[in-house]
Amino acid sequence: MNPSEWFTEQHADAGSAFSLKIKKKLHEEQSEFQHLEIYETETFGNLMIIDGCTMVSTRDNFFYHEMMSHPALFTHPDPKRVWIIGGGDCGTLREVLKHPSVEQAVQIDIDERVTRLAEIYFPELCESNNDPRADLKFIDGIKWVKDAEPNSVDLIIVDSTDPVGPALGLFSEEFYRDCFACLTENGMVVQQSESALYHLKLIGEMRDAMSNAGLSNLQTLFFPQCLYPSGWWSATIAGKGDLSKFREADSSSKPFDTVYYNVDIHKAALAQPEFVKKAFNL
Ligand code: SAM
Repeated sequence: MNPSEWFTEQHADAGSAFSLKIKKKLHEEQSEFQHLEIYETETFGNLMIIDGCTMVSTRDNFFYHEMMSHPALFTHPDPKRVWIIGGGDCGTLREVLKHPSVEQAVQIDIDERVTRLAEIYFPELCESNNDPRADLKFIDGIKWVKDAEPNSVDLIIVDSTDPVGPALGLFSEEFYRDCFACLTENGMVVQQSESALYHLKLIGEMRDAMSNAGLSNLQTLFFPQCLYPSGWWSATIAGKGDLSKFREADSSSKPFDTVYYNVDIHKAALAQPEFVKKAFNL
């Protein structure tokens, strides 16, 4: 095997790695914030790498984008105003805008270059960027939330890179307190929360920080994502209101297509494995 034909992301702490066979490198640059690479792969379409970590592939991004958006949107009673913090590839934005109840979706990514590259190499993810309800901002999401008016948003989706570099503060109690302050009555946050197999401690710390910030109703959902460490990913919803039920009838009759998400997948994603229950006293 010629290592130069493969992109490999090593997960050092877990002693594992994930590789994709590469056809060619399409782009590489150092933006103001991070190192960006785009490859054409043999079997996963195009692949975006940020700071050496896999972000998005053409072939499997639907798991992540659908599970970062639809479960939370069908849990909130009436989501009208949505912010996506990060999410520069625009795939989550596209899913959010499938919901007719959403009147405004603001995507706040620190790095405009991620979106400009997504427009070129992942055009299908950017197909809703010109929807009149979409608003793309390129500033730090931490500052955006800190400066926001109270009572100004129903759902905040934190679709960020891992908790290092510019994304570190997005995993802090202070950030969740700022989220709490600008959320409406039934408001909620959903955040990508890494792998329960590799990062259980991080998920626990995130849940504690959300809870301490007043977002004390929590649901961690699980879904496959072969591109990310361990291939098994999670998202954590933290809300002011009850999260124990979701709008099942609306989910069953959703007026749009998905590739992975449906009402049964939603229910299944809420099932908690024994070791997770034990770790979080559920
Ligand atoms: N699906 C990916 C994952 O879990 O690995 C995340 C993809 S998305 C491309 C991550 C985005 O978060 C990047 O575009 C990055 O620029 C953005 N980001 C990181 N820190 C940020 C911050 N403080 N404010 C806004 N966006 C941020």
